[in-house]
Amino acid sequence: MENARNNIVIDKKELGFSAIPLLLLLPLIVFNHQLFAIFEGSFVYLSLIMKIFIVVFTMTIAIHSWLIFSQLLSNQTLYIGSIFFVVALLEIANIVLAVSQSLDIKLISVWIQIFMRFALVIGVLLMIVKPRKKLTLAHRRIAYGIAVLSVALVLMMLYKVQPLIGGNQFVTTIQSSAQLLTAVLQGVSIYFLSKHYKEAPKQTGWLMSGSAYLIVSDLLFVCSNNFSGIWMFAALFYQFFAYYIFLKAIYYTSVEKPYQQLLKIKLDLEQSQQELTFQAYHDDITQLPNERLLLKTLKEKLRKDGRQQQAIISIEIDRLATISDSLGISYSNKMMKLVAERIQAMLPPHYFATKLRESQFVIYIHHVQTKEELIQFCLNLKSVMNQPLQVQLFSLKGNVNIGIAFNDANCTAEQLLTHAQLAMREASQLPQRLLFYQQHMSTGVANRILLEQELHKALERQEFYLVYQPQINLKTGKIESVEALVRWRHPERGLVPPDTFIEIAEESGLIIPLGKWILETACLQVKAWETQGLPPMKVAVNLSLGQLFQQDLVQMVREILQRSKLEPSYLQLEITESMTMNIDQMTQLLHELKALGIQIAVDDFGTGYSSLSYLKDFPIDCLKIDRAFVHNIQHDPNDEALVSMILSMAKHLRLKVVAEGIEEIAQLAFLVAGDCDYIQGYLFSKPISAEQLATTFNDLHMHANDILERFKYGEEYSI
Ligand code: C2E
Ligand code: MG
Ligand code: MG
Repeated sequence: MENARNNIVIDKKELGFSAIPLLLLLPLIVFNHQLFAIFEGSFVYLSLIMKIFIVVFTMTIAIHSWLIFSQLLSNQTLYIGSIFFVVALLEIANIVLAVSQSLDIKLISVWIQIFMRFALVIGVLLMIVKPRKKLTLAHRRIAYGIAVLSVALVLMMLYKVQPLIGGNQFVTTIQSSAQLLTAVLQGVSIYFLSKHYKEAPKQTGWLMSGSAYLIVSDLLFVCSNNFSGIWMFAALFYQFFAYYIFLKAIYYTSVEKPYQQLLKIKLDLEQSQQELTFQAYHDDITQLPNERLLLKTLKEKLRKDGRQQQAIISIEIDRLATISDSLGISYSNKMMKLVAERIQAMLPPHYFATKLRESQFVIYIHHVQTKEELIQFCLNLKSVMNQPLQVQLFSLKGNVNIGIAFNDANCTAEQLLTHAQLAMREASQLPQRLLFYQQHMSTGVANRILLEQELHKALERQEFYLVYQPQINLKTGKIESVEALVRWRHPERGLVPPDTFIEIAEESGLIIPLGKWILETACLQVKAWETQGLPPMKVAVNLSLGQLFQQDLVQMVREILQRSKLEPSYLQLEITESMTMNIDQMTQLLHELKALGIQIAVDDFGTGYSSLSYLKDFPIDCLKIDRAFVHNIQHDPNDEALVSMILSMAKHLRLKVVAEGIEEIAQLAFLVAGDCDYIQGYLFSKPISAEQLATTFNDLHMHANDILERFKYGEEYSI
């Protein structure tokens, strides 16, 4: 806006400057007799000087156009350049002739003048009318060559036909008519130029005012009927001035404009460089400084003021990673922004807030006065973060884990940051969720961080595999279903138990791709067994909380069923009681899943401490009694009562019951007596590989039958 205004100011100035010579016409008209009397006799010399100036200007224009950068060379520049070259050469010839006093030669000079004007006006018209085209340097040589040739030709022609040239009066009439015609043509070129004014106001403005001066000059030439005197001088003056303005236009196109463009490119480059630097040191979403800037600042400050007490507060919004992976990137971004805004709003001036990867924020304090000051800040932060974050329709809330670390003698920037992060991880296990770093934290938590990093690579390195644990129908004695259980074979650590890594996968969001892989592998496996000739079996797959937040869960299950061609009734998804907290959201999701035709089971039933009201709302098919209760049946009358109660409640609600973790005959006996539907446990089989299950399927059956026959139901079972 400011620039545009400046341009207009400049244009107006230029316009005023260009108009000044017009004012000179006034004294010329009023005092022409007096002026003539003063300068009489010197007009020849004055005109000669003016002509020399004209040569200088026209030649400069020609040279300018010749020297223009090859990238800027266009047909328009060439028209202007070569035509002014013609004008310059003819004007030189004119000067030479003017020095001579012979009338014939003088008449030739008039013809040259006519030819020159026509060449110029036609050249300008061509330049305007012809569309702009890029040319090469070879074209330039051709154009200037043609200019030299045509000048030579004209001069030769005029010299040869000299005797045929009419008398003084005839030439005067011809010159006046030609001059009027060129004035009209110049007027036409102004008309065409005005149409292009908006595209390039500066150049067009100059070309228009240059053309206007040529018209004035033409009219003055017509007035000077004896080719000398004040009018002739004035005509030459305006011609000279017109060329000066043309030169300005050419200079602007060939030098000033490219320079301004270069300047603009330079400024743009500087600006984008600044933006790049900003991006390199700031987080895209929150615009807070990032880890790179934090470490850079930390390194400098630790080097300079290492003895001063400095601190890092590491903040993590619990479950934010899971929520962001489940609800999608736009939700997580909005959530991050809100968190960043809250942190910034309560930040004391000497606290430096930064945003690290994923859901971590770090605050650096260059000069810590008291430990209490930090504690107070953290408590305030916790209470601010306790307010739910409103992201579109969701009211999201996460616990804040905070770790604080102070610098010690030899600690590096990276170590200081890691210490705060370790304290933060450890804090997440405590009710107050706030901890200062202590030496012993390094070992345990570092191991967990390492595990998280390795877990990320495990999926692509195909370190996961599934095992299947048979579930036996107590009524038929047959293996009617299996539970798919994931295993991680770590190249160095060996087998990592799912209880350890599922939690980390949940926190890091990896549970989404991992869960998908598990579901697809399990469905494909059941289908493969069927192809191998095994009796049809249902597969139970565990769902974790993170997957329930996954936006496209239903779509994903549908696609996997389609891809694996598995009959939906042969898939059972296991949810845990803790997932049933958000009844409204879950009811809809489970109904959508159920609509696919699959079965739903509640895993680890009885351990979730939740109210049982969800049992009437959720479309559940099966309850799985947790192995902790089964384990204690013989020893704890409370557990015995609880299992009996679950069995009878399930009967009333028409739900199937699977008892998990059956290791002993006594446990089995209790469950058989309680009319349990299915059992799963080491007593029958541990979780085994898909191949093992296929090859030992008959043995497994036999083994199950042997056990069950002890309860004298043997005759009812057949394999
Ligand atoms: P869960 O879903 O309750 O799985 C049953 C667990 O009990 C399995 O442990 C199984 O090996 C174990 N188990 C079965 N019978 C017996 C028995 O007679 N005695 C004893 N002591 N244990 C028995 P696992 O495979 O270590 O899995 C532990 C938990 O990890 C699972 O509990 C489940 O919550 C989770 N998990 C396992 N695989 C997956 C998976 O693919 N996805 C998800 N989201 N979670 C999984
Ligand atoms: Mg399970
Ligand atoms: Mg279980």
